[in-house]
Amino acid sequence: MSEKINLLGCSLESLEGFFINLQEPKFRAKQLLKWIHQKGVLDFDLMTDFNKDLRKKLSSVALIEPPKIYQEYISEEGTIKYLIQLRSGSMIEMVVIPEKNRRTLCVSSQAGCALQCTFCATGAQGFDQNLESHEIIGQLWLANFYKNNSKPITNVVFMGMGEPLLNYDAVIESAKIMKEQLSYGLSRKRITISTSGIVPNINKLPKDIDVSLAISLHAAEDKLRNEIVPINNKYPIKSLIQSCKDYLDYFENKRNITIEYILIDGVNDSIEHASKLTKLLSDISCKINLIPFNSFPGSNYKRPSNNKIGAFKKYLMSKGLIATLRVTRGDGVDAACGQLVGNLSSSIKGKNLITHKLI
Ligand code: SAH
Ligand code: SF4
Repeated sequence: MSEKINLLGCSLESLEGFFINLQEPKFRAKQLLKWIHQKGVLDFDLMTDFNKDLRKKLSSVALIEPPKIYQEYISEEGTIKYLIQLRSGSMIEMVVIPEKNRRTLCVSSQAGCALQCTFCATGAQGFDQNLESHEIIGQLWLANFYKNNSKPITNVVFMGMGEPLLNYDAVIESAKIMKEQLSYGLSRKRITISTSGIVPNINKLPKDIDVSLAISLHAAEDKLRNEIVPINNKYPIKSLIQSCKDYLDYFENKRNITIEYILIDGVNDSIEHASKLTKLLSDISCKINLIPFNSFPGSNYKRPSNNKIGAFKKYLMSKGLIATLRVTRGDGVDAACGQLVGNLSSSIKGKNLITHKLI
């Protein structure tokens, strides 16, 4: 028998196709989306507006199954980090960041990453596998419904493990479910795809979905960027900046791209670097998110002093750029990208560790 399809990862469009194939009316797709993503129901037998025959038919060809929460870690400042096990056994992580007026979920799009940025714990682990769309949306489902979580997620960022634009189709399909009114109904401003600069897919993106875009730039000249973000050798800064301009031009309404810039002591944090960055971004509508490097075992990089970080930010602002400093949250549970999975083998000691049985 062929493997059952996991309907958790299907957008409205895909579900409509699925029901048509089953010779059922299309409107069933809307009902199913609501059951899964608004009511959190995974069992066909609890879906009361489906008759017995339909429920039986569905169970024989399909299932609805999120990935499993393996462990949960809560930091003092409230960030919750989940270690999640995929069906294959691979581990990924997601992070919930509660704030006053929002609750942000950071999702993974791949287990590991092939791109080997020198400052990144996920990159250091190498590439394991792409996530299926149900494993990506499954993270949002878990964050909303696991243990009857009462506060729903308001924002999603693709800033966990992996390069989202190298798992393009699954990322688009899951983002469609996030936006869909009959499921999570998140607006484009509340979903951010972060990329290290996969130029052909940045060019494709606006034609497939309208979400917010963040570019992990980290350096304003090719020589340095080639070194710390090696994918730059394939898609150099000039082509990346052009793709950002084309992206912005595609939309009629004015919008910003977020430029992410990690500050690493003695590597990319001088005023000269800030000056080059200012020139590079002079005619791009953007805001810059400065992220102090978050250290992890095995890395020789350091976070710059607060003075240096402040001076870098001040310089950008003096040139009229919008720059914000990301407050690093969740350090206590290694909440920066990829660090938890990286630590699994070296055991996690002294953390606020809550261990759950697999659900
Ligand atoms: N692959 C995508 C998305 C995942 S990384 C990308 O590179 O954009 C998400 C963000 O976390 C990126 O901006 C990345 O540069 C940042 N990041 C990775 N390692 C980090 C570290 N050690 N300290 C601080 N930020 C880090
Ligand atoms: Fe991959 Fe992003 Fe980490 Fe680079 S920063 S290795 S692209 S996850």
